[in-house]
Amino acid sequence: MAANRKILSLPGDGIGPEVMTQVGRVLEWFDKRRIASFDVSEGLVGGVSFDKYGTPLTDETMKRAQECDAVLLGAVGGPKWDNLPFAQKPERGLLRLRKDMELFANLRPALVFDALIGASTLKPEVVEGLDILIIRELTGGTYFGEPRGITTLPDGTRRGVNTQVYTTPEIIRVGRVAFELARKRNNKVCSVEKANVMESGVLWREEMQKLGDTEYKDVELSHMYADNCAMQLVRNPKQFDVIVTDNLFGDLLSDCAAMLTGSLGMLPSASLGAADSSGRRKALYEPVHGSAPDIAGKGAANPLACILSMAMMLRYSFDMKEEADLVETAVKNALATGVRTADIMQPGMKRISTVEMGNVVLAEIEKLS
Ligand code: NAD
Repeated sequence: MAANRKILSLPGDGIGPEVMTQVGRVLEWFDKRRIASFDVSEGLVGGVSFDKYGTPLTDETMKRAQECDAVLLGAVGGPKWDNLPFAQKPERGLLRLRKDMELFANLRPALVFDALIGASTLKPEVVEGLDILIIRELTGGTYFGEPRGITTLPDGTRRGVNTQVYTTPEIIRVGRVAFELARKRNNKVCSVEKANVMESGVLWREEMQKLGDTEYKDVELSHMYADNCAMQLVRNPKQFDVIVTDNLFGDLLSDCAAMLTGSLGMLPSASLGAADSSGRRKALYEPVHGSAPDIAGKGAANPLACILSMAMMLRYSFDMKEEADLVETAVKNALATGVRTADIMQPGMKRISTVEMGNVVLAEIEKLS
């Protein structure tokens, strides 16, 4: 079987390599069962790259990331590298990947597994069966807009400035991702901004409506102010299917939605770039959590966020819906057997290690196939 799916695996620092090893085992399972073949190569990013090469990401690794079909990343960072100059910090490696690959759409699903309903701070009936997708614009808006900076005025007062700025192509390209993904889900997009007080929000709303009216009439489009969206996310999150919003509001709302599920160790993410002429998008998949230095090397990390990120890769980069469903169902079934890593431990459940959780997921995949 031809290995035509090129993956660059960047385990990174801390618990990154521990959780990525479990992902590797699932990919190997597909290979062994001759369901799909992957051409996986490894590289260094973050502190481990700095230790070896004096930079958190080498040009050579960057080039390999540009050439592969998908990048899988574990996590970067840790106290060992906290005092490095800004440009050499582990996080700069990740930011360079996102910037150079022009990954403008960040996808964060908030999915509540039945077995973990108790981990949410919200009432079970509010989150039961929750499955929403937040799409955050990742390369524009307030975090990048000019002018920016801190200046001292003639009277000695200091002034800090950031600029919220969006152009129509920036809005349309992330809007398209939202409409297209909604078509693969429940066909609903809620576009979020603050058009009541911000001109950039007025433009965002108008462009989204135009795009919906011209290209995606089959998808139900609604608009909501960001402050109301924050409230609705905790009041009645199941009203949403796909939410699309800018960089700043997306940063806040995706963290808010993430906590509906109750655990950092369960949250996957994907960042996508523009589609080329063959429809292929540059893509990076990573768990939302960091390198968790407090538990690194102890075999206590939850590998499920990383495994679920890999399932997103199967779905979005390789169009392998059935295989993605298989992995996600296996994770759900694994939790239903009552096993838990420390971060999601509940009374009466059995506490297991990172590798053991990998074993249980593989056993469930085997049962389902
Ligand atoms: P963190 O996500 O690493 O950890 C926060 C808490 O959650 C810790 O108590 C940790 O033990 C726990 N945790 C996180 N992931 C877990 C998992 N899979 N299983 C079990 N428990 C888990 O965030 P932090 O402590 O703020 O940051 C630690 C380092 O990670 C810092 O250097 C930070 O810069 C970096 N970081 C990297 C990324 C990334 O690589 N994308 C994201 C966030 C933080």
